[in-house]
Amino acid sequence: MVLNSPRGTGDIFGEDIKYRDFIINTAKKLFNLFNYNEIITPAFEHTEVFNRSIGESTDIVQKEMYTFLDKKGRSLTLRPEGTAPVIRAVIERKLYSENFPLKLFYIENMFRYERPQKGRMREFWQVGVEAVGLGEPFIDVEVIWLLNLLFEKLGFNNLKLLINSVGCSGCRKDYIEIFRGYLKPKVQSLCPDCITRYEKNPLRIFDCKVEECMKILKSSPKIYSYICDDCKIHLDKIAEFLEVLGINFTIKEDLVRGFDYYTRTIFEIISEDLKSAQNALGGGGRYDKLVEQFGGPDIPSIGFAVGIDRVIILMKQLEIGYEVSKKYPKIFIILMEEDFRVYSFKLAKFFRENNLACEISCEAKSVGSQIKWAEKNEFSHVVIIGEDEIKSEIITLKDLKNFRQFKIDWIKQPLKVLELFQ
Ligand code: AMP
Repeated sequence: MVLNSPRGTGDIFGEDIKYRDFIINTAKKLFNLFNYNEIITPAFEHTEVFNRSIGESTDIVQKEMYTFLDKKGRSLTLRPEGTAPVIRAVIERKLYSENFPLKLFYIENMFRYERPQKGRMREFWQVGVEAVGLGEPFIDVEVIWLLNLLFEKLGFNNLKLLINSVGCSGCRKDYIEIFRGYLKPKVQSLCPDCITRYEKNPLRIFDCKVEECMKILKSSPKIYSYICDDCKIHLDKIAEFLEVLGINFTIKEDLVRGFDYYTRTIFEIISEDLKSAQNALGGGGRYDKLVEQFGGPDIPSIGFAVGIDRVIILMKQLEIGYEVSKKYPKIFIILMEEDFRVYSFKLAKFFRENNLACEISCEAKSVGSQIKWAEKNEFSHVVIIGEDEIKSEIITLKDLKNFRQFKIDWIKQPLKVLELFQ
């Protein structure tokens, strides 16, 4: 029997690790510039954490959560997103009592039982940030700026930043009534899911991918036109600041996001080079009531998440290279005979104790074939150990990149060896 990884999951290796490292390192550098600190939360939480925050009638809670009972019968769920666990941690650890704003970032895997396709996995990775404690529009600007800058630093130059407001609890209520009124005569044309959504949470109809529902939504009233004056001022301020920063954006009046906890600002970064269903690379929004909803104080917050796997797909498609972090020397120790293995260990000990990466050949084959192997596997140097080398204690070090060769007495002149790698 051949064992495969579960549907919708993958193994990350080879070239993808390099893209991934580049994305994570770039993100970490930027998060540091914007004063964010890392947080790591458990891979699973009490199911309640997600039900209460993401919303009972969202697709994620309804259809996509990996929920299971543990051996004591407690309902647990693999995290489908990063915000709810971070906020749970912030409240539990009382992190919010420190100076505001509390700025946290995470790099974590998420789990959603979705229909797998390119760019849509059941396990995927996100980098995300949460800025907890401020309701002013300038913090929205900082968060959106950070998201935009991240993609700029990754080498993208043709992405679209979409922004909208989903209003506050006050104006949203009024809008929902108007929206329900619009839908009333059309309810029977909606899909069965949307008929339930119409009753329970009409805004979620905007998540529907059924053609007939999407058609009905096309001419529906949009929340953007119904937000209250305070929400409008908030959005206008963001637009003003973003213009000052020279960040291009589009107000997309029908933008919604699949979580109930959002209030006011929501935003998304999309690529028109990706297939439309999976064209969002990252997105986020404000969630002013979530902390309070979780039993914490009434503190507004905002965050975003970026899908690492999807970014890698687009980087490859657009042939955007990753920046190779400084390559440290990597030495391959070639044995001419199996008897020289003990000696090779002494040499490897010397290299490794001096922070030089090295690998010992596992088979005494011809020197030519071993050099070829070393080149193919990105070794920068080889050391050949033969009888002469052992007798004289002089190693021959070949620099494969610059085609130079050195003969050095590594026992008597260790510093000279190390100098070669400075
Ligand atoms: P969300 O948490 O739904 O706001 O998604 C934020 C980002 O995570 C998206 O823009 C995608 O880049 C990525 N993402 C979301 N769901 C998936 C998935 N099933 N597979 C791969 N990436 C995903």
